[in-house]
Amino acid sequence: MKKTIKVLVTDPLEKEGIQILKDAGFEVAESGKLAPEKLCEIIEVYDAVIVRSATKITRDVIKRGANLKIIGRAGVGLDNIDIEAATLAGIIVMNAPEGNTVSVAEHTVAMLMALARNVSAADRSLKNGQWEKKKYTGTELYGKTLGIIGLGRIGRRVAAVAGSLGMKVLGCDPYLDKNLLDGTGITVVSLPGLLQQSDFITLHIPLSDSSRHMIGESAFEGMKDGVSIINCSRGGVVDEDALYKYLSSGKVKGASIDVFEKEPPDAENPLLKMEQVIVTPHLGASTKEAQVNVAQQLASQIVSALTEKEVKNAVNMPSLDKKSMEKLQGYLSLGEKLGILLKQMSGGGIKKIKVVYSGDIINYDLSLLRANIIIGLLKDFEKVNPVNASLILKEKGIGIEEDRRESGGEFTNLITAAVEDGREISAAGTIIREGEARIVKIDGFSVEAAPEGYLLVCYNEDKPGIMGHIGTILGEKGVNIASMTLGRSKKGGQAITVLNLDQGIDNEVLTRIEEFPAIHSVKLVRI
Ligand code: NAD
Repeated sequence: MKKTIKVLVTDPLEKEGIQILKDAGFEVAESGKLAPEKLCEIIEVYDAVIVRSATKITRDVIKRGANLKIIGRAGVGLDNIDIEAATLAGIIVMNAPEGNTVSVAEHTVAMLMALARNVSAADRSLKNGQWEKKKYTGTELYGKTLGIIGLGRIGRRVAAVAGSLGMKVLGCDPYLDKNLLDGTGITVVSLPGLLQQSDFITLHIPLSDSSRHMIGESAFEGMKDGVSIINCSRGGVVDEDALYKYLSSGKVKGASIDVFEKEPPDAENPLLKMEQVIVTPHLGASTKEAQVNVAQQLASQIVSALTEKEVKNAVNMPSLDKKSMEKLQGYLSLGEKLGILLKQMSGGGIKKIKVVYSGDIINYDLSLLRANIIIGLLKDFEKVNPVNASLILKEKGIGIEEDRRESGGEFTNLITAAVEDGREISAAGTIIREGEARIVKIDGFSVEAAPEGYLLVCYNEDKPGIMGHIGTILGEKGVNIASMTLGRSKKGGQAITVLNLDQGIDNEVLTRIEEFPAIHSVKLVRI
């Protein structure tokens, strides 16, 4: 009987998402927020766990999740998940980044406008019986400069709205593919340039070791006098002590803060007491639409990944778009088989792998192909999958070198992989017209063998009698030869003979084959 897939949902998830999981036949448990110790006690039986930002998925939880395949974050930020531990354990960590974009961008613009027009303070004042028109005179946004740090989904959406308000939009994002900015009207500048020129600065970057306190004393020093700051990204990106200092001095005119270093912030946090500071309790993604979008998106991704269709938005695993998948499908499996072949042909102790990709496959994302070659090489060692393949390789101290070439010579596409374990062993493979995989070279000798079942690889001299010798021994043992291929350097020179066998043979048979004087060595490979 097929095992029921079990999903644990620890933080609230909209019912539309739960329904998608149930419709797929999954068993769903909604536990509510659990402390890591409690989670450790129950996690073992689950295939996937869904969290928002409250539940912490620690190294210990991951260790106890013997069946865990996916950690899903209904939202974007992943600071509550130990991604490194999950990666090493081969567990996919995925988020649902698109569902929140519009809501967070709209909240950012609301915070920007409220700041420019003193909405929050004026509201409080009027409700306290005051009518302070002069005191709350505001600033137009039209013609002002907005600096956006982080030009991802949310940053670009904010830019679009700000542009329509007549703001001049500057942006900085050192990691972004600049093609994504075509037609956005964003002027890309350096961070110091952005700090210097902006009237309003908004942050849309993740919190990481490198972005923590990115907006601290020295950043504030580099800003225009009277600048205003909006942070709807993550607390910790802005140094709150420094923000307080520069707000107090008047260098920073105002701030809108949705996210805090500590959430909820302490009641004594001085920022909460400043009139020129607008605060909201991490409301960026808090709209009905965003919650539903995110829940549906994540649930669909989990169903797709656990039913072995597509893996989307995994943050710790290479995933391919549809077009690349169609192109590379056959090569992915070929890559794994090349890895298996080389692992078994070498004596173990591999120190380095070299891979050359040739032909038009080089125009596609080859990260999953690379992972598959590594999987083949490490297959016998442990639970290796596309999530942890590169990390395990690195941990084993095995280096990998890759090269890409335009032409595969006589082949449209060719993958050539070589391992070093004292000597170099190489194999190359391609997909032939009918969509079938073929090993077309071993150690530089041209062959044509299907990478399937049992392969007997003999290094020999090109002399008569070899096939007769091998055929007689295999015949005696009742082993059928499915196909045979011979590659040689020159007539009478060094050669390689590869036979596809219908079944395996034992060491005694291999030794008898090797006894023939013109045969130097024999290896049996099982793919
Ligand atoms: P995204 O991944 O599409 O964009 C993030 C961008 O930041 C990327 O383009 C990245 O290159 C850039 N970046 C990273 N480090 C940078 C740096 N040091 N300097 C400049 N750019 C840098 O993510 P997104 O969907 O746009 O979300 C942005 C952030 O918003 C998230 O990381 C999350 O922390 C936050 N967020 C907040 C809420 C909320 O409720 N307030 C909700 C969702 C997301």
